[in-house]
Amino acid sequence: MERVDCVVIGAGVVGLAVARAMALEGREVLLLEAEAAIGTGTSSRNSEVVHAGIYYPQGSLKARLCVAGRDALYAFCEGHGVPYRRCGKLIVATDESQLAGLQALQTHAAANGVVDLQWLNGDEVRGLEPQLNAVAGLLSPSTGILDSHALMLALQGDAEAAGALLALRAPVGAIEVTNEGLRVDVGGDEPMTLLATSVINCAGHAAPVIAAHTRGLAAESVPPRYFAKGSYFSLAAPTPFRHLVYPLPEPGGLGVHLTLDLGGQARFGPDVQWVESLDYQLDEHRADGFYAAIRRYWPALSDGALQSAYTGIRPKISGPGEPAADFRIDGPAQHGVTGLVNLFGIESPGLTAALAIGDEVRRSLGCERRGVRSGLFLLRSGR
Ligand SMILES: Cc1cc2nc3c(=O)[nH]c(=O)nc-3n(C[C@H](O)[C@H](O)[C@H](O)COP(=O)(O)OP(=O)(O)OC[C@H]3O[C@@H](n4cnc5c(N)ncnc54)[C@H](O)[C@@H]3O)c2cc1C
Repeated sequence: MERVDCVVIGAGVVGLAVARAMALEGREVLLLEAEAAIGTGTSSRNSEVVHAGIYYPQGSLKARLCVAGRDALYAFCEGHGVPYRRCGKLIVATDESQLAGLQALQTHAAANGVVDLQWLNGDEVRGLEPQLNAVAGLLSPSTGILDSHALMLALQGDAEAAGALLALRAPVGAIEVTNEGLRVDVGGDEPMTLLATSVINCAGHAAPVIAAHTRGLAAESVPPRYFAKGSYFSLAAPTPFRHLVYPLPEPGGLGVHLTLDLGGQARFGPDVQWVESLDYQLDEHRADGFYAAIRRYWPALSDGALQSAYTGIRPKISGPGEPAADFRIDGPAQHGVTGLVNLFGIESPGLTAALAIGDEVRRSLGCERRGVRSGLFLLRSGR
């Protein structure tokens, strides 16, 4: 059995950021990805928004890691040539009945450390975006957009430069807690069993499944998993908007909002549809609900203007009707297993928070013993 120091499972944006953080800490990192490429899961099916940190419950991991992650992310993008734009976003109240909700959101954001929101009256909103229907709005100047694939490539580059090794088509099947370390069974074309000092489970939707297949981890440490699909429709014509535009949040999501990509194309979504499986097919009929939702803040949206785009599925650990669960970064302090960290429920703002999540994981394992560079690393990396 090969000995390795630190195994990271899953090469989405979070696994890549965790692998980078651990490698920069001097740990020897093997990043195992089930698919043939990095970032094919939720990390390539989202809005690519750098969130300011407005919405999340005060004191939650989501609130703290979003604010910390946002600042780290902008600095990382700047330093690594990852395309991004701080385009800002408007959250709009479309009638008087929403004003109290908008005010509450501003107060809530300030408690999370987001103190740069600017209150705008209807005329000021239309001064920025003439086509919007709004009686008031909040301008968030620190919200932006980025190229998530360029980000993932840059994270991979950093991690590899610090010695991490990425293995593709390497699905982890099961883990066993032993006296010598964590036994990791890897399938794929070259099945193998590894003995690791640390294992960080960043497998997104599959994280609870891997945790459930971890012998020695108590069943109560494994949350249920739920899937909340979000569909996107894009605007066929050039967009009249320069800012992202959001309504007030709705249960389970942020409401059908307008985001822009770096090429300037507008897309709307995601809505919230609880589903039973990871089926990414887009139901074109959902466009009907989009027209109604968008016209509340953009009445000029013309019939037939929306075209089908794509879907993403939120890796939820709380179900329909339940309060949204926080991120879970379950380390030894939570479950009692030395060297093991399970990441659960890393839905939005996981892209924004990825670098901060990497730091959080690194800290949670910071005091653990370092392993010895193994033959496996030398063999697979060709060094
Ligand atoms: C609709 C939608 C919109 C969103 N919009 C935003 C946004 O605008 N801004 C923001 O900050 N966040 C957003 N998010 C959240 C963000 O996209 C996620 O938090 C983030 O991408 C999660 O990354 P991840 O690495 O944890 O998961 P994933 O990207 O899903 O990566 C998990 C990886 O693990 C691999 N894997 C699975 N099983 C195994 C196994 N057994 N062995 C090895 N590898 C395995 C998978 O192949 C995959 O590559 C959005 C999410 C959704 C669903």
